[in-house]
Amino acid sequence: MKRGSLVPRNPTTARPWGCRRSRDGPRTGDRPTLAISEEAEINVLVLNSGSSTLRFQIIDTDLQRIEADADVRLARGLVERIGGHALLRLESEGKGTIHEDAPLRDHRAAVDRVLRWIVSEESGIDSVSSLADIHAVGHRVVHGGERFRSSVRIDGDVLREIEECNGLAPLHNPANLRGIRSAQELLGQGVPQVAVFDTAFHSTMAPAAYLYGIPYSLYRRHGIRRYGFHGTSHRYVAYRYRQRMGISREEVNIITLHLGNGCSACAIQDGRSVDTSMGFTPLEGLLMGTRSGDLDPSIVEFLGHEEGMELAEIDSLLNKQSGLLGVSGLTSDMRELLREEEENQDRRAGLAIEIFCRRVRKYIGAYLAAMGGADAVIFTAGIGENSPEIRRRICTGLEWIGLELDPVRNEVALNGATAEIGRDGSRVRAFVIPTDEELLIARDTVRVLEGTPLPG
Ligand code: ADP
Repeated sequence: MKRGSLVPRNPTTARPWGCRRSRDGPRTGDRPTLAISEEAEINVLVLNSGSSTLRFQIIDTDLQRIEADADVRLARGLVERIGGHALLRLESEGKGTIHEDAPLRDHRAAVDRVLRWIVSEESGIDSVSSLADIHAVGHRVVHGGERFRSSVRIDGDVLREIEECNGLAPLHNPANLRGIRSAQELLGQGVPQVAVFDTAFHSTMAPAAYLYGIPYSLYRRHGIRRYGFHGTSHRYVAYRYRQRMGISREEVNIITLHLGNGCSACAIQDGRSVDTSMGFTPLEGLLMGTRSGDLDPSIVEFLGHEEGMELAEIDSLLNKQSGLLGVSGLTSDMRELLREEEENQDRRAGLAIEIFCRRVRKYIGAYLAAMGGADAVIFTAGIGENSPEIRRRICTGLEWIGLELDPVRNEVALNGATAEIGRDGSRVRAFVIPTDEELLIARDTVRVLEGTPLPG
């Protein structure tokens, strides 16, 4: 097909989706699985659609590549300010990064623009010259409620059930659904789509970990409980840890710290999430860029009374104007806060950083107690991967539990490097492991379509 064509897959020339790899011989009658010829890889489009944003990647993978850890990222990008004059960052392996802006009225228009770029000469992605070269789509879906405990192929029932979770994530799930529907419309129903849920990894928590101390009837009636988020990230770094250590999933006993704009901690025992700091919504737990994290719920009533604020305003205050931004009064960006503290001795910048680190340290302590000890602490995401200073401050004072950073190893663990940063012989080891949620979404997409088990 001519490069740049947006004609959807022609069913008569498409790959034989309904049968297995050629070496296994054709299969008939079974449920459809992803069909791949012996030599062909699968180009998976990964979509993560937020309320006004769309992140995407194209990853070339298949079961053999997953096994060999040899997946290839062909392109990635970000569309911001969907619904108005949008900003696009489009980056491919061959052609580098381009920035552009364009009016994009909705998610469908954004997905359409991204697809046009992917198949164009401009992107330089040789193996994707038409929409027929996109073989599957993996979607990040924020909330799977209690229904979805792992990744799943999307069909009409799944779409309905994701929609039923909208009440639990009114900002996120509708946006995720817009991404799914846009991809279905633009690529055609013949291209299989898979949903990968932020909540799924935490579905192994026990009731004692996920129930709040409120009337049980509220859990029964409304599903009010801890769900936890960032599950794909916690699961991914736990997988990389066990791979590095050469141990089985059941031997993984660690605390993972996802410290980005959103932040969460996860207690992983015997390879399964047993507790996590985000709760019914992503608001609970650690101090974040603009979210308050833990606070006394009575503050909500107090603010309504004393400041005359509506519930929606308070919700917005706690989600968008609190955290590092709220305390510092300056910014939610940790880099800037560190700079302000150092160069201008800004007191509130220093305070915001101190509250941030103290909260993480308290969660490490709480999870060590809840798990009866852990073998390692893992740092990931923007702050966790890139800030030796914040890692140092978090760990200072934890030497007594056997968590001791090696100053030199900590200092040089930057820019996407995987590294052990603890002292040799520390009882609790410490690592930086870069997260890659998109890669896990692409791999889950292939495994779900192939019908192979999903590793934890
Ligand atoms: P998101 O949760 O949006 O995916 P990221 O994981 O990219 O966010 O993390 C963003 C955060 O990481 C920001 O607060 C940013 O300031 C912080 N960050 C990135 N690099 C550094 C660095 N070198 N030092 C300190 N903080 C950093």
